[in-house]
Amino acid sequence: MASHIAGYPRMGPKRELKFALESFWDGKSSAEDLEKVATDLRSSIWKQMSEAGIKYIPSNTFSYYDQVLDTTAMLGAVPERYSWTGGEIGLSTYFSMARGNASVPAMEMTKWFDTNYHFIVPELGPSTKFTYASHKAVSEYKEAKALGIDTVPVLVGPVSYLLLSKPAKGVEKSFSLLSLLGSILPIYKEVVAELKAAGASWIQFDEPTLVKDLAAHELAAFSSAYAELESAFAGLNVLIETYFADIPAESYKTLTSLSGVTAYGFDLIRGAKTLDLIRSSFPSGKYLFAGVVDGRNIWADDLAASLSTLQSLEAVAGKDKLVVSTSCSLMHTAVDLVNETKLDDEIKSWLAFAAQKVVEVNALAKALAGQKDEAYFAANAAAQASRRSSPRVTNEEVQKAAAALKGSDHRRATTVSARLDAQQKKLNLPVLPTTTIGSFPQTVELRRVRREYKAKKISEEEYISAIKEEISKVVKIQEELDIDVLVHGEPERNDMVEYFGEQLSGFAFTANGWVQSYGSRCVKPPIIYGDVSRPNPMTVFWSKTAQSMTARPMKGMLTGPVTILNWSFVRNDQPRFETCYQIALAIKKEVEDLEAAGIQVIQIDEAALREGLPLRKSEHAFYLDWAVHSFRITNCGVQDTTQIHTHMCYSNFNDIIHSIIDMDADVITIENSRSDEKLLSVFREGVKYGAGIGPGVYDIHSPRIPSTEEIADRVNKMLAVLDTNILWVNPDCGLKTRKYTEVKPALTNMVSATKLIRTQL
Ligand code: GLN
Ligand code: ZN
Repeated sequence: MASHIAGYPRMGPKRELKFALESFWDGKSSAEDLEKVATDLRSSIWKQMSEAGIKYIPSNTFSYYDQVLDTTAMLGAVPERYSWTGGEIGLSTYFSMARGNASVPAMEMTKWFDTNYHFIVPELGPSTKFTYASHKAVSEYKEAKALGIDTVPVLVGPVSYLLLSKPAKGVEKSFSLLSLLGSILPIYKEVVAELKAAGASWIQFDEPTLVKDLAAHELAAFSSAYAELESAFAGLNVLIETYFADIPAESYKTLTSLSGVTAYGFDLIRGAKTLDLIRSSFPSGKYLFAGVVDGRNIWADDLAASLSTLQSLEAVAGKDKLVVSTSCSLMHTAVDLVNETKLDDEIKSWLAFAAQKVVEVNALAKALAGQKDEAYFAANAAAQASRRSSPRVTNEEVQKAAAALKGSDHRRATTVSARLDAQQKKLNLPVLPTTTIGSFPQTVELRRVRREYKAKKISEEEYISAIKEEISKVVKIQEELDIDVLVHGEPERNDMVEYFGEQLSGFAFTANGWVQSYGSRCVKPPIIYGDVSRPNPMTVFWSKTAQSMTARPMKGMLTGPVTILNWSFVRNDQPRFETCYQIALAIKKEVEDLEAAGIQVIQIDEAALREGLPLRKSEHAFYLDWAVHSFRITNCGVQDTTQIHTHMCYSNFNDIIHSIIDMDADVITIENSRSDEKLLSVFREGVKYGAGIGPGVYDIHSPRIPSTEEIADRVNKMLAVLDTNILWVNPDCGLKTRKYTEVKPALTNMVSATKLIRTQL
C-alpha cells in the first residue's frame, strides 16, 4: 500500500508560522519562541500524515521562508553583501537574504513557476564559493525519526536550482549557471551521505524545471548531474519529482533513463499528456509516483476516476511499483477544511484542502491494495454527483450567453486613434495627463470601519457616510494636487478580487483558506464553484457618488475577468476559458452600467494577466487568445467617447506586447519603475503603439519619495520613444499600502514634473 505526499503547507491551519515569524521580526519574541512554533507545526504535520497511513512522508518541506533559499543556505551561496563569515547559517543571515536588513536590501524574489508562490532567486557567479552551510535537511529528517516517523527528505534538485538562479551583478553575460554543477554536486553528495548515515532510505529531488521547454544542453545537465551523483545513491531509493505541466517527450526520455534514479513523480493533473508517455513506455523495475490528487486546487478528488487511472497504470509500472501521490506539493492549496465553519455542508462536501487530500491519497492507495473503504468512496461519489447536478452550479442563462460568444472576437468598431480623438473632445485633458492607479492609502481607521460593517456592528447608513467622507477627502486631495483624471480611492475594497467575488454569484469564501505567497505572506483566494453572474451593479453607486463630488473625470474602477480568474481557485469541471468568459460577461454589464451612469473613463485592471501564462510556450498563444478576448468582451459595447483604461502589474511584457495591443484598451498604465530600459526597448525596436500608455514613473512598493527631477527625467526618457499625445503620467500601481505622508509629496512631485515638462514641449 504505497502513498506519498510531495510536500505540505508550512504555515499551519491558522497561519501559526506567519504570526510567529512576524512577531520574531518585530522583536516581540525570541528565536526559541519561533523555533518552538516551527517544531510543533512540523511534528503535527508528520503525525497527521503518519496517522492517515501515508507511507512516504516528506521532510525538509518546512521552511522559515522558502525552500530555494534553504538550498542556497545548504550550499553556502550567500551573496557577499550579507557579510556572512562562514559556519552554519543562522537566522539572522538567512532572514537578511530573504528580507534585507537595515543596511543591505533583500535578494530578488520571483514567481515559482506559474503558481502564486514566490521564491528567493539565488545569485551566482564564477566566484561564488560553495560550502555545506545548512544541515537543515538532515536535522529535519532526524527530528521526524525521533518522533518515530521515517520520512523522505526532499531537496531542490541541483539542476533546477541552477536553472532557477540568476547571474550575480557584474557577472558576464556569457557566464553559464550550469557550469557551477561541478561545484555544487560535492555538497549534494555530502548531504546525501549524511542522510543515509542518519537512516534515510529514500530521497526526493524536486526537479520541476523538467516540465519547461529546455534546450538540449540543459537536458544534458540532468544526465550528467545524476550520473555524477550515482555513486552517492548506492543503497538508496531516489525519487525525481516533477510537477506543474506535461513533461515534454524528450525530457521524459532523459528523465526515465537517469542513472541511479529509482522513482519518478509526475503531475497527472496538469500533465494529462504525460499519461500517454507513461503508457507508451515506462522503464521496468522503477517506481511510478502517480500524482493524481490535485495539489493546486481545493476540490475533492473524483476518487472513482483516479482509481481507474491508477488501475490502468498498475499494468504499466507493476502493482508493487505504483505509488499514489499528489500532483505537486500541497503547499499550493489551503490547509484544513476543518476550520471552515462558515461554508455550508453542500459546498464543503465538494472540497478537500491539504489535510483532506492526505486522506484521499491514502484511501486510493488502500483501494489499490484491495482494501477499498466503500463508505468513503460512496460518500465521495455522492459529493461528486451533487456537484455535477446542483442548481447552485449551473445557471442556464449564463451558459447560453457564454456559448453565444463563440465566433465573434468582440472588438470595438473604431480604431483606437479615432476613439482617442472622440474622447479628447469630451474630456479635454492637458497633454501628458496625470492620474493614479486606483487605491489611496488604507488607514487603520478605514479598515476598522469595513470590519465593523461586515460584523454588523455599525449600520449601513453609518458605513456609507464613513466611506463617502473618505472618498470626498481623496477627491479633495487629488484636486489640490491638480491631478487630471481622478480615482475614488477604493476605500470600500478590502481586496481587488474578493470585493467583486463577494458580489458575483458562483463564488464562495473561506475563513482560513490561506495559501503562502511569499515569506509570511498568504493569500486567501475565493472559490469559483458555479456559473458566474452579476445579480446587481457592484461599483456604480460609489463611482457615481465620487463623480458627483468633482467636475474632473472620475475613473470607474473594476477588476478584469482574467485577474479575477487567476487569483481564484477555479472550478475544474469546465475549461478555464469558459469560466473566464462568464466573468467577462458579468464585468461587461458593470462597464455598461457605469457608462450609463455618466462615468466617462473606466479602468479594468488586468494586474494578473501575464502571470497566467502557461509554462510551456506551445500553450501561450491559446491562453493569450482567450485572455485577451475576455478583456475585450468587457468593453466592446461602449461608445467611442468612453475611455477604457487597463492596468498591469508587470512591465516585463516585451514578449506579449502584441497581445497587449490586441486588448485594444484606450489607455494602459503599467508597472515600470524598476525597469524603464526593458520597456523602452520594446518601443525602440519599433513596435507600433498608438494607444495611451502610462508607464509608472515611480515605485510605490518603496516608502522612498521620488524627486521632481527624477520623475521629469524618466518622463523625458519615455518621450524620446513615445508620441507626446499618448503618454500619461502616473505611479506604477495602487497606493493602498503607502502612508499619506509618502503619497502626498510623491504625487506633488509627479505633478510638478509633469507641469515642468509641459512648458518645455
Ligand atoms: N486598482 C488597484 C489599486 O489601485 C490595482 C491594484 C493592482 O494592480 N494590484 O489598488
Ligand atoms: Zn498594479
